[in-house]
Order: sequence, then C-alpha cells, then structure tokens
Amino acid sequence: MLTQVPLLVVQPPAATDPTVRIFTPPRHATADHVYLSGPGPLHSSCGECGRILLRGQRSVHHVPGIYFVCPGCGACNALPG
Ligand SMILES: [Zn+2]
Repeated sequence: MLTQVPLLVVQPPAATDPTVRIFTPPRHATADHVYLSGPGPLHSSCGECGRILLRGQRSVHHVPGIYFVCPGCGACNALPG
C-alpha cells in the first residue's frame, strides 16, 4: 500500500543562508527525476503540482532547513512536520 504525502510549498529561503540546503534539479531533469528513491511505502510529492519528489521512503520526518525545488513547476518544497 503506497501512501503519497504532499510536501509544503514555501517561499524559497535565501541561498546564502548557511543553515539551509536547497536541492535543485539537474538542468536536464528526466520526467521521472526524484531526489531520493528507496524501497519504502511512502512517496513525498510536490505540494503545488503533485509530482513525486521523494520516492519509496520508510517514514517522513520534518528536517528544518532542507528544501526541494520541483523539476516540474519550480515550487520550493519543505518536509512537513
Ligand atoms: Zn511541482
């Protein structure tokens, strides 16, 4: 049973802030590009367009200062929690 967990769309933090890490897609991201792919039952999706960004997680934890930019729509996503 796969569960899809939407991430939280946020305003992108300043890239110069040393306490944040913003993961951005490669210039030529494939349609199935994900930032993480594992064997777990949880997928985290973009809070804006629903595209899967983190596939196959075992659990989802809030990690402050970590952001994922959606290759599809460009939204800045944070882990919920
Ligand atoms: Zn998106």
